[in-house]
Amino acid sequence: MTRAGTVSVVGKPNAGKSTLLNRIIGQKLSIISPKPQSTRQRVVGIHTAGDVQMIISDTPGLLDPTYPLQHAMRSIAVQSLGDADVIIYISDALEGPPPDLAEAAQATIPRNASVIEVINKVDALPTAGREQLRAARPDAHFISAVTGEGIEELLAEVADKLPASPFLYPEDDIGTQSTRFFVTELVRETALEQLHEEVPYSIACEIEEFREDRIPWYIRAVIYVERDSQKRILIGHKGAQIRDLGSAARQKIEDLVGERVYLDLWVKVLPNWRRSPRDLKRFGFDLPEGLSR
Ligand code: GDP
Ligand code: MG
Repeated sequence: MTRAGTVSVVGKPNAGKSTLLNRIIGQKLSIISPKPQSTRQRVVGIHTAGDVQMIISDTPGLLDPTYPLQHAMRSIAVQSLGDADVIIYISDALEGPPPDLAEAAQATIPRNASVIEVINKVDALPTAGREQLRAARPDAHFISAVTGEGIEELLAEVADKLPASPFLYPEDDIGTQSTRFFVTELVRETALEQLHEEVPYSIACEIEEFREDRIPWYIRAVIYVERDSQKRILIGHKGAQIRDLGSAARQKIEDLVGERVYLDLWVKVLPNWRRSPRDLKRFGFDLPEGLSR
């Protein structure tokens, strides 16, 4: 008899949700950054081991939204709470004992979902701090998504809580999203690495042409920013910045697809797209009711 179900990883920005997903899947599906709010969309990984299959969603951080893109990001996180058989509620050990999930999410937690509390980054915590946290949160799993400590035990508990079900995906699938999606995410991750302040947050990436019928693959992508000044920063002196960004992103894309790639990057301005319902929709974001006009 097999078990299968959906697992949502939720928590505040920067808690290590994406690092945990990648650690469980054993491959980089979700982008990671020391800068908060790097994950904007749900990223789905599939973990099949023995007679258990977990369909795991990495989500944007639970935050208080201040502009429409953040409203859309928050509603993705809240929605994935509603879809879950098991919720992994992850927090950063360095921030002390976490608030309850309902409080952190400012939402009611569906009663049919099992919530597993996870305290991450214990590798960065001195022993005394660990003891204190353990006393405060005796039921939590203490893990390090970076070193792998505590992950086996966590997965065993998740497996216990999943319903009896046939597998929902073929056993060797690890994701559900298109290569195009991962390419746009890798461009954004590289922007988060190379650019500072508002600029990386003002970026959206869209694929205009994607040709796998030649070597190298030809991928033309547009990076949208919100203002001319951001476009100038992104392009840099004599195009140096966009060249650096393009070459680092291209290497990541080649690692992902296992093929040589020609990445043709363009920069365009789409004024205030993060606040425009129409532009958000174009980039795949749904605004919650009442904010969609
Ligand atoms: P998310 O916003 O919750 O998805 O967090 P990320 O997975 O992007 O991680 C945020 C930052 O925390 C990154 O710089 C990670 O390298 C770091 N991080 C994640 N997990 C761990 C961990 O177990 N230990 C340590 N020391 N750092 C971690
Ligand atoms: Mg993330």
